[in-house]
Amino acid sequence: MILDLKLTGGRFVTLDPDRPSASSVGVWGGRIVALDTDLPARRVVDLGGATVLPGFIDAHTHLAWAGRASRVPDVSRCRTVAEVLEVLRAAPRGTWLEAAGYDHRVLDRPLTARDLDSVGSRVYVQDVSGHACVVSSDVLGLLGVPSSDGFLAESAQTAVRALILPYPVADIASDVRLGAEQCLREGVVLAAEAGVGAGLIGSSPIEVAAYQREPLPIRVQLMVSAMELREVGAHPADGVRRALPLGIRTGLGSDWLSIGALKLWTDGGMIARTAALTQPYTVGGVGQWQDDPAVMRAALLDGHAAGWQLAVHAIGDRAIDFALDVVEEAQRLVPRPGARHRIEHCGLVRPDQLDRIASLGLIPVVQPAFLWAYGDDYAEIMGPERAPWLYRGRSFLERGIVVAGSSDRPVADGNPLRGIRFMVERRSRTGLAVGSGEAVSVTEALAAYTRGAAHACGVEGVLGSITPGKLADFAVLDGDPREVSVERISEIAVLATVVGGEFRHDPAGFAD
Ligand SMILES: [Zn+2]
Repeated sequence: MILDLKLTGGRFVTLDPDRPSASSVGVWGGRIVALDTDLPARRVVDLGGATVLPGFIDAHTHLAWAGRASRVPDVSRCRTVAEVLEVLRAAPRGTWLEAAGYDHRVLDRPLTARDLDSVGSRVYVQDVSGHACVVSSDVLGLLGVPSSDGFLAESAQTAVRALILPYPVADIASDVRLGAEQCLREGVVLAAEAGVGAGLIGSSPIEVAAYQREPLPIRVQLMVSAMELREVGAHPADGVRRALPLGIRTGLGSDWLSIGALKLWTDGGMIARTAALTQPYTVGGVGQWQDDPAVMRAALLDGHAAGWQLAVHAIGDRAIDFALDVVEEAQRLVPRPGARHRIEHCGLVRPDQLDRIASLGLIPVVQPAFLWAYGDDYAEIMGPERAPWLYRGRSFLERGIVVAGSSDRPVADGNPLRGIRFMVERRSRTGLAVGSGEAVSVTEALAAYTRGAAHACGVEGVLGSITPGKLADFAVLDGDPREVSVERISEIAVLATVVGGEFRHDPAGFAD
């Protein structure tokens, strides 16, 4: 046998417990076929001592939204309302003026509809959380809520988006490409798009076409909004009341593009103070449901019965109670031991919820970089008793719970090494310790963004470790995260990203 490619001179950190390290890897047909092999190869690339990890997996991200946020006016660096308005006035506009990156917590005061009226009509400024927006007064008029100050969250925001949407597929496709290229630069080889179709972040009823338009540089898995479920008229013996048309469900597709979990949003988020809590925020309020709980429960039960993996967005502990109750009920009605349901975010977990997460086999899909970016704010709105329960690590691993790493970009930084550093260090960007008891080792954190995320996406047979038989996807780094000091982990450069045995990102010119 002649290999297509042999990577030599690397320090391969395989994350495969049976074979933790290697210095060369043989690739044939886009897959890893051997470690430390003498087989001849058509091409040999010397990695010059670089550290090589399995390609990272971002188990929850938003490619289209991240791409769009990177090209519409961004107000995230503004510190006053006057600066926001300056950015908006300078921006090009179509029928709508859309902007991204609004964060009321960093401005001198909240932005209002009246402020936006001075810029023009049909102004839509998306909150960084994705769960809210501020709009101009004419938009409030279109919605029939003229008395509002312009800040609209959750279902009210969805109503605004219904006015703006759909986007053309060509635009969505270029946004997806921009988002995928961001991933590639950061060593991410598989991105799980956290919701296509209806719901908070859908862009068009035919948006899946945007992912099929042209080959993408990374692998993509699409979670489908539970609002897409339809009565399908299946045979009673199938026990399927609602499904996607044709019975399409989790697992369909290829190594490049596949259907992932069924996504349902149960609550909001911490940034917008809409994550559903059992005890109020220190600033008041207990958050809110995304929809009528009876409607959400029915969707999850039907999705489970139709064979879907569920991805239940639940950030506050009250939302997590809801997710636990419904998954337990679903499993009682239709036992599916391998269902591998996920809790997206799983942000505030009370101590009494941990064992239930473990016994139901649920996978928390966490975003550690939230606490790096927003930890000071989250700790304050939770108060000292609850702050250590945020975005846990150690407590999950101790119970044998598989933890999947992710970013939720553009809500937070998409760089996996940023999330990995936080999981180890548990400090916000200002240095505030948040839940130090939840710290994990570097290897455990690396596993969350490789093996754990692969498990959450159902692709552990082909991704997540450097193991013969798996896909030849690698992140080539200029340092070993296990050996540098913890604050250097997020500064390690990605020298190359290899997908399917090809150098898709190669600023160092290894493949030249
Ligand atoms: Zn998300």
